[in-house]
Amino acid sequence: MSDALFDVSGQIVLVSGGTRGIGRALAEGFCSRGAVVVVTGREAAVAETAAAEIAQAAGGKCFGLGCDVAQTSQIGPLVAAIVERHGRIDTLVNVAGVNRRKPAADVTEDDFDFVVDTNLRGAFFMSQAVGKQMIAQGGGAQIQICSLNNYGPLPWVLPYAASKAAVGHMTRVLAMEWGKHNVRVNAIAPGYILTDLSKKLWSNPMMQEWNTNNTPLRRLGNPDDMNGAAIFLASKASAFMTGQIVFVDGGFSAGIMWPIDKAV
Ligand code: NDP
Repeated sequence: MSDALFDVSGQIVLVSGGTRGIGRALAEGFCSRGAVVVVTGREAAVAETAAAEIAQAAGGKCFGLGCDVAQTSQIGPLVAAIVERHGRIDTLVNVAGVNRRKPAADVTEDDFDFVVDTNLRGAFFMSQAVGKQMIAQGGGAQIQICSLNNYGPLPWVLPYAASKAAVGHMTRVLAMEWGKHNVRVNAIAPGYILTDLSKKLWSNPMMQEWNTNNTPLRRLGNPDDMNGAAIFLASKASAFMTGQIVFVDGGFSAGIMWPIDKAV
């Protein structure tokens, strides 16, 4: 049974950072539901290969284009190329993100710029370029990707935590500025998800045990776990929702899991 409330078929969806991990799973989720998807990554050839694989797996239409969001001069031409080919952009999923873990005292200017230029600067200028198009076409939906750092910051990832906190505020400010143009801006804050970005960390048994003990649903997340929230935020089902951060984290941000069951 199909439900018009959650229908994304026919939408033109741009997944910025869709070659791997969460972005790729979201691209496949949209593509398999009839959306025409454009995935991007830093290298055009990698994006083209990913797009072909996504289209085949989903049985739909997916195209790959290169766009390094840290090189902001590449963003305008990307948006122009999509609009020229497809006429509009209905949904932006702004996923491209990187991290470098180390103590704050050891963070170099290169570390700081690498993370912030992609996660915040790149995300903002992508949102802005697509937002202008959405305003011109009379509406659209943007989905930013936040983090559990928007619930509580973690040590050893200062540039990342700061960039995601900023993306949270960016989500709210854009929602307020663009609501009158029928452009909705929301965010998904994933919990701990097993991807290239995180697999080394979560291969550590001590980290696995800590996650199991602190996540009510008692597992790591899969990239696919983000699909329900993304389809919801891109569809009519969320028509009266903007400026919100939706935590999809197995309940991690619900509260503090103290070991009361072992103490009494
Ligand atoms: P991955 O490392 O698996 O994938 C990152 C994606 O971003 C790739 O498609 C990569 O493409 C793209 N990318 C990286 N830098 C750039 C850039 N400068 N320009 C364009 N694309 C870029 O990471 P995840 O899937 O784990 O993370 C995706 C998002 O989710 C990030 O924003 C991350 O912060 C966030 N997140 C992840 C969590 C997790 O536990 N994994 C938890 C919370 C948030 P390519 O290499 O082809 O350029």
